[in-house]
Amino acid sequence: MLKNAFLASVCACATFAQSPAPNASMVRFDVKAIDKAANPCQDFYQYACGNWLTRNPIPADQARWGRFQELDERNKQALRAILDTAAKPEPGRDSVTRQIGDYYAACMDEKGIDARGLAPLQAEFDRIRQLSDKAQLAAEIARLHRIGVASLFEFSSGQDFKDSTKVVAQLDQGGIGLPDRDYYLKDDRKSVELRQKYLAHVQRMFELAGRTPETAKAYAATVMRMETELAKGSLDNVSRRDPEKIYHPMKKADVAALAPAFQWAEYYAGARAPDFQAIVVSSPEFFQAIDRQIQDTTLEDWRVYFGWHLLHSEAPLLPSVFVQENFEFYGRTLTGATEMRPRWKRCVDFTDNQLGEALGKTYVEKTFGATGKERTLKMVHALEKALGEDIEKLPWMTATTKKGALIKLQAITNKIGYPDHWRDYSSVEIQRDDAIGNGFRADQYEFQRQLNKIGKPVDRLEWSMTPPTVNAYYDPQMNNINFPAGILQPPFFDSAIDDAVNFGGIGMVIGHELTHGFDDQGRQFDPKGNLQDWWTPADAKEFQQRAACVDDEYASFTVAPGVHINGKLTLGENTADNGGVRVALMALLNTIGKEAKKIDGFTPEQRFFLSFGQVWCSGEREESLRLQVATNPHSPPKFRVNGVVQNMPEFQKAFSCKAGQPMAKANVCRVW
Ligand SMILES: [Zn+2]
Repeated sequence: MLKNAFLASVCACATFAQSPAPNASMVRFDVKAIDKAANPCQDFYQYACGNWLTRNPIPADQARWGRFQELDERNKQALRAILDTAAKPEPGRDSVTRQIGDYYAACMDEKGIDARGLAPLQAEFDRIRQLSDKAQLAAEIARLHRIGVASLFEFSSGQDFKDSTKVVAQLDQGGIGLPDRDYYLKDDRKSVELRQKYLAHVQRMFELAGRTPETAKAYAATVMRMETELAKGSLDNVSRRDPEKIYHPMKKADVAALAPAFQWAEYYAGARAPDFQAIVVSSPEFFQAIDRQIQDTTLEDWRVYFGWHLLHSEAPLLPSVFVQENFEFYGRTLTGATEMRPRWKRCVDFTDNQLGEALGKTYVEKTFGATGKERTLKMVHALEKALGEDIEKLPWMTATTKKGALIKLQAITNKIGYPDHWRDYSSVEIQRDDAIGNGFRADQYEFQRQLNKIGKPVDRLEWSMTPPTVNAYYDPQMNNINFPAGILQPPFFDSAIDDAVNFGGIGMVIGHELTHGFDDQGRQFDPKGNLQDWWTPADAKEFQQRAACVDDEYASFTVAPGVHINGKLTLGENTADNGGVRVALMALLNTIGKEAKKIDGFTPEQRFFLSFGQVWCSGEREESLRLQVATNPHSPPKFRVNGVVQNMPEFQKAFSCKAGQPMAKANVCRVW
């Protein structure tokens, strides 16, 4: 969805399988994680995390393993306990418990799933086989979209960029099986090799579905050819960070003119979209490319393409041979994990994805204390105050733009913990012996829920993450910051520890999200969430110069042999990291005053930086690093730590670093 391209979260975790080692070693902030042999001024990340990294090798079923994943593991254990109980078919279960319990039970029933084979997909395969005319493509794509199968493009709803009070229909690029369009277009050895492996994977999936090796091979080539055409028509991920580049408001007739070969009226009817006229298209060129593809591709090739996406999309809930093959490519090849995660963890994730607020409601009741909200709110206010002071003191910004920035800051609202109103899934039929069907029906509910918003007032209380999620986000169109209950725990937030540690943890996260309102993307939206310029041209130029410094700094970091961070893709996150740590430190110093004492031999400033560094302690496989750098707007953890501290004189003072040491560079970058 277009909207999600814009949610600026703190953690890269969502893109990766997160799940976890059996023994979460350290729950709280712990000075024993420090590598005392390392010099904090040479490599602060190694100093803060060295012992943790030695003691916490990446588990076989993980692509990366860090403090975020440790906490996620603890949350998952809590969710498992809830689901194990809910899954017992005892009389008297309330309807929400029955839904999540039966969904989970169906997912866990590997034996039953194996026995049913591909039968749960038969009706869909039949429909695809019976397509007899290209005029029917639109209705079939609508059907696939409704049941959550990616195909050709994406259709949903979202706030209008230039009128955030309106919800409009949105059309976006999509329909590929590799993680990003660049995977189809780059010519380096690794990319060519990955494409060969993808082809082999698609072929094996068709073979498992009963095709001969020759037919399956030809099918895989068809899929690759069609997806490559879609990739060529797609915008790259750096362009997609620019809201102006993906905002093309149109009428239905304009869309029809872009792609006249597609039966749009049949599509909207099949998708069960409400009546509407206004529609925002992310990339008109993409829909022109689709038009060419519809004209040039045979009906038989379309059948192959749909068949692949159906198999691919449902693979995790198909018989174990499909699950294994899906893991071989998307797990082992793309992320470097050597083992599949245990089934219960995958099923907890599916339940969280599809019935998230039903499961989340129980999770919150069992884990989130009454005081959690209040304490977090206090910190949010301390951070907002510090960011206000930071804006007022900024040396490079004129009074006019400062005033605008302060108005925007004041307008930011926050949501903490969990929704005030829980989503009602009662219309979703869940059956204990139908994992695939449950998935289709839950996806259908979500697809319809999104379309039903078109033309309705914006629901400002809605959440885009579920309560157990270990992450947080800023939404530029809502101009709000959001902190799920899942992250409001150690090591981020610990009611039993000193302020320095909490400000370095959850304080940094709050500062990060607030700063997103003022990064290269967020700054283009006004206090009401409209894409509207409130900067003087001179201040905008000053901003861009400072942002270019951050871009260059991170682009110079090497994460794996021959692999550099993409400074432009990660600019917003890096800006938020730098601003977030700075305002969190300001808020800490405002809170504790001057008389705070050393603890464990460290000053409050040192403990603040150590706490910040340690929430990012994380090991990552090279494959996963490559995937992250190619697709994810967050820098890898080590650089999120060292990239920030080398820009901060406060850090250099705290650890007595000398000018010229790696963490005390002469050329520091500062935006906020
Ligand atoms: Zn972020």
